[in-house]
Amino acid sequence: MEKVTILLKQHVGGPDKPIVEVGQRVKRGELIAEPDGLGANIHASLTGTVTDITDKAIIIDADEEQSKEDYVHIPDSDDYLTDIKNAGIVGAGGAGFPTDVKLSNKIPGGYLIANAAECEPLLCHNTQVEERYADQIVRGMKYMLEITDAKVGYIAVKKIHHAAVLALGKACKNEPKIKVKFLTNMYPAGDERVIVRQLLGIVLKPGELPIKANAIIDNTETIKRIAEAIEDRKPFIDKDITLDGRIKERSTVFENVPVGLPAKKFIDAAGGYIVPYGDITVGGPFTGHTGSETTPVTKTTGAFLVGMPYPQVHKKIGLLECECGGQEPRLREIAKKMGSEVVEFQRCKRMVLVNGRYRCSLPGICPGQADAILAMKKKGAEAVLTGTCQD
Ligand code: SF4
Repeated sequence: MEKVTILLKQHVGGPDKPIVEVGQRVKRGELIAEPDGLGANIHASLTGTVTDITDKAIIIDADEEQSKEDYVHIPDSDDYLTDIKNAGIVGAGGAGFPTDVKLSNKIPGGYLIANAAECEPLLCHNTQVEERYADQIVRGMKYMLEITDAKVGYIAVKKIHHAAVLALGKACKNEPKIKVKFLTNMYPAGDERVIVRQLLGIVLKPGELPIKANAIIDNTETIKRIAEAIEDRKPFIDKDITLDGRIKERSTVFENVPVGLPAKKFIDAAGGYIVPYGDITVGGPFTGHTGSETTPVTKTTGAFLVGMPYPQVHKKIGLLECECGGQEPRLREIAKKMGSEVVEFQRCKRMVLVNGRYRCSLPGICPGQADAILAMKKKGAEAVLTGTCQD
C-alpha cells in the first residue's frame, strides 16, 4: 500500500485546514483541505483512506488499484478564474503563489508572459512538457489573456531549447496575440525581473513585481494545469518533476506524478542510487533545499537531485551569497557537512535590503566579487563556498 503525504502548506500563505477525518475514504481529486486566508485548495491525489492528520499533512494509505484518468472533477462553473481557484492551482515553478489571486489583476494593454526558461541546471521537465504539450500551453495562455485582458502573450524561452522552441512556435503559429520571445542563455534568465527586462525593456527595482510593468508571468507547467482545470475539470493533483544526480538513469522526467508520493519512489523507479551518494536536494541546485527519501512531492516540487557525498575539506571557509543562488542557511549547512569552519560571510555587492530581505538590484548582470573574496581572505578564509550564480 502506498503512503501519500499531502502537505497542508504547498503555497504562499498559511497552511490549509483539513476538511476530512481520520478513517475517511477519499477519492482521487476530492477536496480534502481548504485555505484559511491566502492559500489554495488541496485535493487527494490518489484514492484511499485517511490514516493520520497532523498540523503539517494529511496522510492517505492509497488503494492498490488506481486510475489516473479517474478523478473527482472540480465543480461546474462558467468562470475561468473560479475554475482555477477551485482546482487549487499555484505557481508550479517553485513560487507557490495562488494563481487565481495573481490572475485577478486586470492588465488591459499589458503582457501575459509564459516563463519557459527552464533556468536551473539539470532541470528538464518543463522543457519536455513544452515539447509534448505545447498546444495545451497555448490554449492555457488564451484563457489567461481573456481573464486578464492582456493585449499580448509572450512565451519566454531560451534558444538552446530547440525542440521546445519549435513546438511552442508551431502551437502559436495561428495565434495573432501569442508570440515566442527569446531569453539570454544564462542563469537566472527565469527570474521574473530578468524576463521583464529582456522582453519589455523595463528595469524593475528590487522587490517590485511584474505587475508594476503591466505584466503577469506564470511558468509553463502552471499554464498547463490551468488548461487542465478548465477543459478537463481536473484539480492540481499531479506534478511534473526531474530526477537527476547519483541515480542509475540520469535526467529522468516523471510527468504527472501524484502529489504526496515520496522521493524514494522515483529514485527506485530510475534504477536506484549510484554509490557513493550524498544528500537529496529538493528543487534546483541553486534554489533547492535538502530533503530526504521521504520528502513528498508538492505542487511546487521541481526536482529531486541526488548529490555526491560532500568532500571533507576541513578548511576555514568564506561564504558568498547571491539572491538567485544558495542562501546563507544552506551555505552554512553545506560548509558544516564539509567539516569546515565558516570564518566570514559576504553577500554579492548588488544585494540590497528591501522589506527585511536581501534582493539583487540587477539580476543576471553580475559584478566581479574581488572585494568580497579579499574580505574573506583577511578573515583567514582558505576556501570560498559560493552561492552566486556567476562566480
Ligand atoms: S548581481 Fe549578484 S546577486 Fe544578482 S544575480 Fe548576479 S551574482 Fe546574484
